[in-house]
Parts: sequence; structure tokens; C-alpha cells
Amino acid sequence: MYTCGPTVHNYVHIGNLRTYVFEDVLRRHVRSKGWGLKHVMNITDIDDKIIKGALKAGQDLKSYTTPYTQAFFEDCRKLRIERPDVITPATDYIPEMIDLVAKLIDRGYAYQEGDSVYYRISRFPNYGRLSRLDKRDLKIGARIDADEYEKEEPGDFVLWKAPKHEKEPHWQAPFGPGRPGWHVECSAMAMKQLGKTLDIHCGGVDNIFPHHENEIAQSEAVTGKPFVRFWVHGEHLLVEGEKMSKSKGNFFTLRDLLDRQYDPLAIRYLLVSVPYRKRLNFTWDGLLAAQRSLDRMKEFLFRLQTARLEPGSNPELDGFTGAAAAAFENSLDDDLNTAQALGSVFDLIRKCNTALSDGLLKQEDRKRILQFFDDVEGRLAVVPLMETIVQGDEEIESLIASRNEARRKGDFALADQIRQQLLDRGVVIEDTREGTKWRLK
Ligand SMILES: [Zn+2]
Repeated sequence: MYTCGPTVHNYVHIGNLRTYVFEDVLRRHVRSKGWGLKHVMNITDIDDKIIKGALKAGQDLKSYTTPYTQAFFEDCRKLRIERPDVITPATDYIPEMIDLVAKLIDRGYAYQEGDSVYYRISRFPNYGRLSRLDKRDLKIGARIDADEYEKEEPGDFVLWKAPKHEKEPHWQAPFGPGRPGWHVECSAMAMKQLGKTLDIHCGGVDNIFPHHENEIAQSEAVTGKPFVRFWVHGEHLLVEGEKMSKSKGNFFTLRDLLDRQYDPLAIRYLLVSVPYRKRLNFTWDGLLAAQRSLDRMKEFLFRLQTARLEPGSNPELDGFTGAAAAAFENSLDDDLNTAQALGSVFDLIRKCNTALSDGLLKQEDRKRILQFFDDVEGRLAVVPLMETIVQGDEEIESLIASRNEARRKGDFALADQIRQQLLDRGVVIEDTREGTKWRLK
């Protein structure tokens, strides 16, 4: 599976993060079936915007892009997005890109014009098939230098760009000094890591044209084989019904939301709660509703874990739990219908809350229900951690959170090490029914 990664000239916005969250759910789903998965994600660390930003900041490419790359993975971690198996920074694959461009020139799919190299779209009969572009719309002979452009201007796109002035980063190639266009990056890296035909290629719908259309044209022209078996694209995210834009003041990064004290898990929950093929309308009310859903889940789990229960099991409830688990699975099998999957989780919570009140939930039922919530966490990663932490010192709380995370993952050595670290600072922690509490020694 290949997923188009971030262009690291800025912090990613919540629309980008919606795509990465949906890809994370897809990845978890594929793995849950026991299928082998190699997930490759690129980092675009060279393009028009990056060069402009780096020149302006007086930095070289790596110094300019590294903090944004680190910030991206930090954002992903906060949103419980698993790390891809292979991460490919574009500037590590320049030889592969040069090789691909050379092959395209050899086979007549690319030509030199000025000091740059362009892809001749009229040479590739399937051009426009993925984005359902009408053949009549092709602008034969028109050339585009920008990495991003609209469907209205489907001309020959740039594969290798000559530097506009000396200071621009560039590499030597048989067809002259320059640097790769954005589209050729993904073709070269995807095929290097995953072979001529990929099973799954993901991205946002705005990648369909021109980016993915161009990836197909570049790759298939050289291999003669289908580039991708399944294209999976996530729909747009709107904010309060409008397209996000900086000028409208409705443009948000994850940092912006965390600065406003929103819980990253509530943000993930909101992003997961709408199936990827539907547009997601991000609203403040929606975010509060997501937080309320998480609170309900947490209250229920706390109640379930701390209740005094009779041994045995309740056959009716057992049947209901099995049905909820099956409905959850069927929903995700149905093109990742995450909304319906969450619906079955809350159906079960309602039923179990009633059973708890009536004393009809037994010890074996609890085991099975908690097992189901483990599965929900494995698949959607939206289950709140049970540890409640005493409010106060941020640094101590973050250490306690890391320890709990280590315990959750079964890394008890690390958990003990953090406990000792706290003790060295005079902080004693206690694990209680109500979660982890701390006090000064
Ligand atoms: Zn890409």
C-alpha cells in the first residue's frame, strides 16, 4: 500500500489529517484480516513551495524541512495514527527518479524543452481515465511547470525542472541539472519499494488530478503493466460547510485545535466517525458531540471495570455482544463504514448499561465485552484510556501518561523505569480503581 505523504513546508491541516486517519483505519482493517501489508509513505521534501521557503529562510533543504517532518509524525502520534512501515523522503530517491525520466525520454514519452523535461500526454492513450477527463479537453502542446494545477489545464507536465537561478537546489542528470517534479517522485518511490504493480494506492480526492493521473502515465509508460489495482481516495473535509482557506479564517492545523484545549482523541473520533467516501463537515458542535461520545464510552468502561459482578454469563447479553461484534466487522467490511461500526458499539453500550443497572451483567460477559473494546481500539483507535490523572503538573502528567502507555503495550521495563524516574523526583504514584493517582513523597 502506497499513501501520498505530506509536503513538509508547513504544518499539515485537519483536512490532510482526515486522509491520514482514514488510511490508518484502512491499514488496520487490512492487517486485521491477517493479510501481509507493507505500507509505504513518501515525504515530499522538495517542491516549488519548499524551495521558496528555504531560500527565504536562508536554510538548506534538510534544515528547512526536518522540523516540519518531525511535527508531522508528532501530529500523527497524537492522533493515534500508526507509522508506515517504510517512509521515503523524495530527496533520498533522486537516482531512481533520474532513471525513470531517462526511460521516459528513451521511449518517446518525454521530451526536452528549454532546460526542462516534460511528459507528452498525447503519447499515453489512457491519460485521463482515472479522473474521467474527456479526451477533447487535452491541451496538446501546452506545457505546465507548476506541481499543482487544475483539471481545466491538462497539458504536458514537468518531469525534471531546470533551476531558475543558481541558488536553487539541483542535481546532475544526463538531461541537464535540475530537480524532479512532484509527480515523478511518487512513481519512482512507489515502484522502487513495492514493484511495478501496487495493490492499494491512497490519497485525498484532490490527488486524483493531476497527481495520480500523472503517476499512472509515468509508471505504465515504462512498465507496460497496471500501476495500481485499487485506488482509494478520501473525500474532502469542510469547515462549517465551507472549503478551508487561510483567507476565510477557517483553516486549522492540529496545533490550532490543541491550543484551544481540544482533546486529540475527540478530533480523531470526529475524523473517524464519517465514512471516508463522504464529505466531512467539521464543526465545533461536531467536535463537542465527539467529546461527549468519548465521555459516554469512558463512563461505561469505568462502570464495567469497577462493578461487582456475579460469576457466570447472561446468555441473552452474550448473544447481543456477539451480534454487535459481527455488525461492527460487517460495517467495516462494507467499504469501511465507520459510522455504522461506531453505531454498533453504542448499541452495545446502551444494552449493557441497562443490564448493569438491573444486575444482569455477569463476570464472563464483562470479559467478552472488554475483549470487544480491545478490538474496537485495534481497528478504530478511539477508545479512551481508563487512567484518570490528577490535574496539576504537566510534566508529571505526561510522564504518567507515558508510563500508562508503556503498560498498555506490555513494556513493563519501561513502565518501571518511568516510575523510578518519578520517584527520584519525589513523586509517588498509585494505581487505583479510579486510575493512576500521584502525590508528593
Ligand atoms: Zn504522491
